[in-house]
Amino acid sequence: MANQSPAVNPFETAQRQIDIVADLLHLNGGVREVLKVPKRELTVNFPVRMDDGSFRVYTGYRVQYNMARGPTKGGIRYHPQVTLDEVRALAAWMTWKCAVVNIPYGGAKGGVICDPKHMSIGELERLTRRYASEIAPIIGPEVDIPAPDVYTDAQTMAWIMDTFSMQKGYSVPGVVTGKPISIGGSEGRGEATGRGCSYVVREAAKELGLKLKGASVAIQGFGNAGSVASKILADEQGAKIVAVSDSKGGITNPDGLNPHAVDEHKRKTGSVVGFPGSKPITNDEILTMKCDVLIPAALENQLSAKNADKVQAKIVAEAANGPTLPEADTILFQKGITVLPDILANAGGVTVSYFEWAQDLQGFFWTLDEVNQRLERVMVGSYADMRKQAKAHSVHNRTGAYLLAIQRVVDAIRIRGIYP
Ligand code: GLU
Repeated sequence: MANQSPAVNPFETAQRQIDIVADLLHLNGGVREVLKVPKRELTVNFPVRMDDGSFRVYTGYRVQYNMARGPTKGGIRYHPQVTLDEVRALAAWMTWKCAVVNIPYGGAKGGVICDPKHMSIGELERLTRRYASEIAPIIGPEVDIPAPDVYTDAQTMAWIMDTFSMQKGYSVPGVVTGKPISIGGSEGRGEATGRGCSYVVREAAKELGLKLKGASVAIQGFGNAGSVASKILADEQGAKIVAVSDSKGGITNPDGLNPHAVDEHKRKTGSVVGFPGSKPITNDEILTMKCDVLIPAALENQLSAKNADKVQAKIVAEAANGPTLPEADTILFQKGITVLPDILANAGGVTVSYFEWAQDLQGFFWTLDEVNQRLERVMVGSYADMRKQAKAHSVHNRTGAYLLAIQRVVDAIRIRGIYP
């Protein structure tokens, strides 16, 4: 993403966010230290045979941040800029995310340094299967359950499920979520992140007295989360999508873009850029353009002290993980902008992942309506819980959500006690 600053270490951001809340909760040294470091980290270097017959060595990670509340949970990211500190931060955020929506999981994350856009499907399959074998000793339905993240999808999960199952000698659908329906995936998982995000935008708009019908929405990132959020906000809430972008650039149309047609264009051409009837706009311009709702749905470190004071949206809904730096949080709060923090706004994905895992363990599957109704209940309830905390402590929503999450994790740590 254009605005991403490599100088900002996401794990330092994650640790600063923990300190802010640990101070408010008066957490003592020992518990605070436990919250600030990952429990388990695995680095794997492994060879993959390329289509031309050569092989390359790739580096991957799996970080299990905290398992006080249950097995760890979190996606796997394929991206050239993956670092161990990024995976640590993402694993910490998964811990708080699962706690905010009160699902019985700790947090984890995985990543492989690779450029999936320049790999063939065969190369991606071999990379995925070998990475899955390398992390197999520490994953499993009762241990740590991966899922899709940036540039991984249901097919990636099918390869991981198959590789793990072949090694066990029997099928283990509960080892990953976000699988295809045909092998134990859940109805509604594919769109859950975007759908969950649309529910909390709706709740926030209601509280602000903002009518979503005709409201303008700008979306940075048109992947798993952003494209679905744009379609649901347009189709179900009547919102007008005024700008969207991807890693190649952005497009805008003040009269509104049809997100289904944009998706079709992206499928055909590989990017939203050049969509008929639109004007080009940069990723940076999207963040500060005039709109009612801004949805950062790409990568970390997008809103900083440099651009936060220029944000014009009334609601910022973080479909991405970690798009806002702590300095920007303060600025947005002072400007009266409602931020829906990542650990709530994109928690719909992991919530339906939990539903998928529960269905797999029972071998009993739910309808799409059942999934969406339960998802809505979780998102609406968690939004209210977060607002209660934020109001009670006169803090912004991120700190409100962290207060809720960290208190739940701390309760679990305390009641379990320290082994031995
Ligand atoms: N990668 C998604 C996230 O960041 C989903 C994780 C999951 O379903 O386990 O929340």
